[in-house]
Amino acid sequence: ATPISLVVASGTLAGRGIVVKEAGALERMAGLDTLVLDKTGTLTEGKPRVTGIYAEHGSKTGVLRIAAAAEAGSDHPLAKAIREEAVRLGLAAQAGEQAVYTPGKGMVASFGGKKIGVGNRKLAADKEWRMSRMAEAYALEREAAGETVLLVMEGGVVAGAVAFADTVRPHAGEAVGRLRKLGVKVLLATGDHAAAAGAAAKEAGVSETYASMLPEGKLELVRTLQREGRRVGMAGDGWNDAPALAAADVGIAMGDGTDAALTAGHMTLLQPRLKAIPEAVRISRRTLRNVR
Ligand code: ADP
Ligand code: MG
Repeated sequence: ATPISLVVASGTLAGRGIVVKEAGALERMAGLDTLVLDKTGTLTEGKPRVTGIYAEHGSKTGVLRIAAAAEAGSDHPLAKAIREEAVRLGLAAQAGEQAVYTPGKGMVASFGGKKIGVGNRKLAADKEWRMSRMAEAYALEREAAGETVLLVMEGGVVAGAVAFADTVRPHAGEAVGRLRKLGVKVLLATGDHAAAAGAAAKEAGVSETYASMLPEGKLELVRTLQREGRRVGMAGDGWNDAPALAAADVGIAMGDGTDAALTAGHMTLLQPRLKAIPEAVRISRRTLRNVR
């Protein structure tokens, strides 16, 4: 039988915008000693903006047109940012065909009889896109500044690049500080590159980061920590976080996240308020003390 205090605690949490799907999650939350935070859309607002475009030969709008066509069918935040920028510059929406998504890497499609693509360096290496020194230098410079860069390919050659910046959520640093006071170690795991991970982590006061992680990597990180005897929470919003959310002792999904994350998680933050996580730890611990 569910002790009445667990029901009461669930109600208290609901009042703070934290929905607990099962009483067991509340009990496991009390024992949490590690929290893995996804970056894009969890630690950050997940609304990247285009901050720059590099064109190898043609115009910047040409590069953006290819990028928008390749991303026409994607609901990834970077894809949305590309489409928004295309609209802002008055480009007509044109969709590529036969689009194929490689998780954590990017999109490839065909457009006007040519192969096109948008993705990170991993995708470029996998697909053997040819890239000039100039394009490489642009990517390195932007990444060193903590931005995210996607390469834009046409006909097997990198035609340009798009740079993006995202914003760390308000009160992220406070949330991390409170978790630390509660004895919960916070780690950052992201599919983004190391410099972007480092910049966001620094701003939020997180000291340990895992960058360039595929969805399997996040899952493996959670399992490794569990094998070390840790009790692991995972907070995420993307379908790429879903396996890790499901495997964690407590999966915490951002309410505005993907359906996959919401289904896989054991708790949902209705508002993307990171301070709700230490609140949930505190309330569940107080409740469990009373139950036992
Ligand atoms: P995070 O773990 O930070 O939420 P993702 O796993 O969603 O990030 O993405 C990791 C990286 O994979 C992105 O930074 C980008 O380089 C690449 N990527 C993911 N989706 C796309 C896409 N639709 N188009 C281009 N690149 C993508
Ligand atoms: Mg994410």
